[in-house]
Amino acid sequence: MAIPKHRFMTWLAVQGRLLTQERKLRLQIHVEDNACCLCEEKVMETNVHLFEDCKWTSTVWQAMQQWTEVPVHNIGIVQVLENIKGNRWKQFKKEIMAAICGAIIYHTWRARNWRRFRDIRVHTEEAVTQIKKEISEDYTSLVVLREQINVDTLFSICYVTRYFVLLEAYSLFQK
Ligand SMILES: [Zn+2]
Repeated sequence: MAIPKHRFMTWLAVQGRLLTQERKLRLQIHVEDNACCLCEEKVMETNVHLFEDCKWTSTVWQAMQQWTEVPVHNIGIVQVLENIKGNRWKQFKKEIMAAICGAIIYHTWRARNWRRFRDIRVHTEEAVTQIKKEISEDYTSLVVLREQINVDTLFSICYVTRYFVLLEAYSLFQK
């Protein structure tokens, strides 16, 4: 699962292929400013900083943890994804958590690009709202499209997304 654009960005991030300032330097591409543009730390924009240590990203992770009430700690993209995969959760929960992880990566990179190339600051609240919306829409359509849906699955989605539209889906299911 997961939205294709998120999945693609996650793949690039996991492979270390995103053109961070550090990677540009390694490739001998001239950069004006090496520092991360999402926080005030003035540290080199590396893959690890951007997706793991940066305050901006950490704030988004924390907000998503509060939303899902699932304690997935950001200990690096690869490790987080492996932990989700290896967890003894139901497949559906794993999919949702991996999708959320992908959405965070996508929106972190997007915020970074907006700041760097357009000088537009994306606030963490905006990113969090957008991630919740995208994840909810994605899984709501899944619920509606699936013919054989069991109550357990539906509850696990409600648990994660808390959207009234899912409760509506539940009432349709009961008819
Ligand atoms: Zn930063």
